[in-house]
Amino acid sequence: MAQSRINIKRFVPAVIILLAVIAAAVLFILRPGADKTPTPANNVAPQESFSPSKPSDDGKDDSAELPPDPDEAARARAASMQDYAIDPNTGRAADITTMDDNFLLLVNRTHALASSYAPSDLVKVEHSVSGVGIPGETDQLRKVAADAFEAMVAAAESGGIIIKLRTGYRSYAYQRDRLYNAYVAQYGRAYADTISARPGQSEHQTGLALDVGGASEGFALSRNFGNTKEGQWVAEHCCEYGFIIRYTDGTKNSPGPITGFISEPWHLRYVGVQPATSMKNSGKLLEQYLDVMY
Ligand SMILES: [Zn+2]
Repeated sequence: MAQSRINIKRFVPAVIILLAVIAAAVLFILRPGADKTPTPANNVAPQESFSPSKPSDDGKDDSAELPPDPDEAARARAASMQDYAIDPNTGRAADITTMDDNFLLLVNRTHALASSYAPSDLVKVEHSVSGVGIPGETDQLRKVAADAFEAMVAAAESGGIIIKLRTGYRSYAYQRDRLYNAYVAQYGRAYADTISARPGQSEHQTGLALDVGGASEGFALSRNFGNTKEGQWVAEHCCEYGFIIRYTDGTKNSPGPITGFISEPWHLRYVGVQPATSMKNSGKLLEQYLDVMY
């Protein structure tokens, strides 16, 4: 018996060390973040992610140390100016004297312009396609957008890309008579609503929106524009001149859930360089950028 007791005592330290090693191994395996069961998905490289200008939710605690959002003032101004667009539900009238310096003005199905609204500083765009729309009317843009468009045309041309304006400003009457009502007569209202804005709900009436055509397709309005070299150049560079491609949440055949329009790679909207760059980098639509109900 005495012999046996001595042997057990001799093994106690070894057992304690063994238990400690096992415990350490278990803790190591169960540590937070451990890849317990590696799967093929763990080996896939993460998708390229955007770098949004706004801090993510995770960064809220650090927000006091971040520089001020350069877009904040523009957004706040747009929000206040938005009150001057007409709401079809309330019938509130537009104040045309104070809307003119709001380049972030939102016009869509729920934010319409009054039939009387026309910008006060429309100018003719030199590089426009002849024989489209109404010469002297639809070949115009507001001065800031016209200047930006001409600068973009010149930059494109230096790279061998030839683009022209097809239509820019459209009056309420033009949108009603020449486009929307004509499409309704041809296709019926349901389909017309996916390809043409109702009068007052077209941002072409702001003088800040335009349709662009490229030389490789004879400057035609083309669903294939996004695949042409001109369409790809425009998508890459238009933000440098203050433009966004406005309707990007749909496909060629199905309207987007937010804008309600099919994809229109030819339809540009002037918003200013900073907002345009921010929207391109974040992938946000104008509605999302302004964070408004739509
Ligand atoms: Zn358009």
